[in-house]
Order: sequence, then C-alpha cells, then structure tokens
Amino acid sequence: MSQEKTTREGSLEAPTRHALDWQSPDFYNEESLNKELERVFDICHGCRRCVNLCQSFPTLFDLVDESDTMEVDGVDKADYKKVVDQCYLCDLCYMTKCPYVPPHEWNVDFPHLMLRAKAAHFKNHGASFRDKVLTSTDAVGKMSTIPVINTVVNTMNENAGFRKILQSQLGVHEDAVVPKYYSPTMRQRLKNTKASGQTDAKVALFSTCYGNYNSPHLGEDLVKVFQHNNIDVELVPSECCCGMPKLELGDLETVKQHKEYNIPIMARLADQGYKITALVPSCVLMFKQELPLMFPDDPEVKKVQEAFVDPFEYLFMQYRAGVLKLDFKESLGDISYHVACHLRVQNIGLKARDILSLIPDTNIHPQERCSGHDGTYAVKVESHEKAVKIGRPVARKVDQLKSPHFASDCPMAANHIAHISESVSEARHPISLLRQAYGL
Ligand code: SF4
Ligand code: SF4
Repeated sequence: MSQEKTTREGSLEAPTRHALDWQSPDFYNEESLNKELERVFDICHGCRRCVNLCQSFPTLFDLVDESDTMEVDGVDKADYKKVVDQCYLCDLCYMTKCPYVPPHEWNVDFPHLMLRAKAAHFKNHGASFRDKVLTSTDAVGKMSTIPVINTVVNTMNENAGFRKILQSQLGVHEDAVVPKYYSPTMRQRLKNTKASGQTDAKVALFSTCYGNYNSPHLGEDLVKVFQHNNIDVELVPSECCCGMPKLELGDLETVKQHKEYNIPIMARLADQGYKITALVPSCVLMFKQELPLMFPDDPEVKKVQEAFVDPFEYLFMQYRAGVLKLDFKESLGDISYHVACHLRVQNIGLKARDILSLIPDTNIHPQERCSGHDGTYAVKVESHEKAVKIGRPVARKVDQLKSPHFASDCPMAANHIAHISESVSEARHPISLLRQAYGL
C-alpha cells in the first residue's frame, strides 16, 4: 500500500459525509477520476474488510491478484468499470464497515466514488436502451397501468416465451421477478383520502413508483393503520419518481429534474407542518440523504429532508408519545423479517421490528443481510445470477425458520427473496402485517 504507515487505523469520530461535487467539471474528468479510483482501490486492496459485502470488492481483489504486479498499479484502468458495474449503491460499506471514511484523513467514500464513476460514464458514453427503460419507472408504470394495456402487460410478463424474447432482445433475465402492474394505481385508490384537520399528527404519503404502480394495497394499509391511530394522512398532491433509479444509472441531470418537480411541492407540505413518508426505504433515503448531498445549499431540500420519516419511525414516535393504539385483535406468531440495506443505512434502528414486537405473541426474526435485489441489479441478464447468490443466505435462513410470515420494508427485496426461497408463498410489508394485527 502506498499510504503512510503512521496513519492511524480507523476513526473514533462519527462519519461525516461530504457533499457530492457533481456540478464541477473535474467530477467527470476521466484522468482525475482514474487517479482517485486507483488511490481508493489501493486502500481497499490493503484492507479487504468488505470482501463479502457485494461483488464489487471480490471483482477488484481478483483483478489485483491476477495482475502482473499483484498491486493496483498492475490493473488495466479499462477494467475499473468491472468493479463499478457491480456496485448498486447500497451504502453498506460506507455505513457499516469502512474505518477510513471522513473525517479520517484517507477520506474513503467508496459508494460515492462508484457513483462518480457511473456519472462520468453516463455523461461520456450514455446508457443502453435497456438501462434507460428499466430506470424510467414512472413512464413504464404510467403506460403499464392504462386499463387496456395493463392486462396485456401482466399477461405477457407471465408468459415464458415472451420472457425469453425479453431476455434476448432487452437483456432482462427470464427468471427475474418482474412486478405486476395494478390499475387502479395507489394514487387513484387514495385520491379521496383527506385530512380531518382535527389532529396535529398529519402525514403526507409519497406513493413512490413501485408503490403507486406495483403495490397499491400498501398505501391502503398505511392509511388504515394511520387513521386508526388518529393520524391524518393524505397523498403528496403530485409527484414524480424520487430519482433513485436514475441516480444508480449515474444520470444526475435527470435526478435534478425530478428533484425540481418534487421538492417545491413537498417543501410546501413541510411548511404546513406535515411529516412526509414513503413505503420504500430507497425513496426515503433519496430525500433524507442523497438529494441533500447533491444539493447541500438548497433550503427547500433541507426542509424536505427534515420532514421526511420512515413510516415505522413515525409510528414509533407516536408510541413514545404514548398515543399509539395497542388494541390488537390478532397475534401473528413468528415473522421472518428482512432488514433492507437502504433502511439500515438510515441509522434509525429497526423500527418496524419494534412496532411489530408490541403485538402480543409475535416474535420477529431480523435478517440483516443484503437481498441482492438492489434496484435493477437482479433484473439484468448479466447480474441476475449474482443477485440470486447474494440473496440466497437470507432465503436459506428464512426457509430454516419456517415462520408463517415473511416481510421486508423493501417490497422489491421481499419479492426477490420470496422468489429464491423454497418456503415463502407470500412476501409481506410490515405495514400490511400491522393492519392485519389491528384487524382493520
Ligand atoms: S455501496 Fe454496496 S454495492 Fe456498492 S461497493 Fe459498497 S457494499 Fe458494494
Ligand atoms: S471500503 Fe473501506 S472497509 Fe471496505 S475494503 Fe475499502 S477501505 Fe476497507
């Protein structure tokens, strides 16, 4: 390793995340980027703590070990992209493993370096048609939920012959879970849900693309649970995709466009005293962490960041305040509970577990390992098998536990694990389990 041997190991201070310098020309400069990749890869090569987190690190270490010098300087820079392509920005290496994150002088932020490399590649080389389609969740969702088209899309997605064509022509793996599209959508189902105005507890629900088009019942479950607890809930008046899929693609200009649509609407809600929530942890993380790091000087982004809460974080606040109802009608027994990576890195603890634990005779068994789904990673033909390998330990644990319920806050991760598992017939969201326990 080229770093000074006298540099102290690790840091006792809390990590500080630097803003993403994505508007500077140097951010996209390939020479400057490769220099930083080489510097950080060299630190990782000497450390290797993250070897079992994802495929980025084994890919890097194999490239180093198989090079002529067996050091990072022996790796062809053209191969750096192989490491970048395996990162799905889960943030776990930064948040749970790395002792060299800032304020440590080595200043390692592996996920944001991968994001920079993705952004530089997108700016300089664009993206494939497949990747543009897969990350256009709003446009695909809108089209697939038009009533006549809806039935055709869902029928075709279940047709093995069509899935083979989809794999060969578009690069969507034939065995990957492709979500079902629902008409009416969540926003259509909840359009008449209005605040009573009789309580200070008021929450606006950001439906998310996946929630709106693929899991509309989750919004109905949340409304039932919140209203039962005298929490006013209504939809964010209008929304588009949070931008996370485009962030993972490195298309930061489109992330900015989404931000410019969503943030003023939600900042107005924050001004009116609303908390804002969403049922997909990645979308919550986008507003709580990624947009504030991309737009650190935007007061409206900051306002939305402060108003955004995970739904179970909010319910736990109500519990702490002594106002959460505990009038459960049904015990749930054992629940295998997958803890999504984008929930873990929010550093709020396991609030869904804490709330579900209040239900009598209900035992939660958390699994804190990556599902492998990770946005589009499990769907792409080149990474689907790796995604299955990453998710298999969670699925095996779930199979061993044989709990009557399996749940994850991330509906996509839940469906991916259920698909790999031999015992799960239905993947649930904790909010649906809570509704069931209340008998609503
Ligand atoms: S952010 Fe996640 S996927 Fe990316 S390198 Fe770190 S652990 Fe791997
Ligand atoms: S990201 Fe940090 S902990 Fe992980 S291998 Fe690199 S230096 Fe080590």
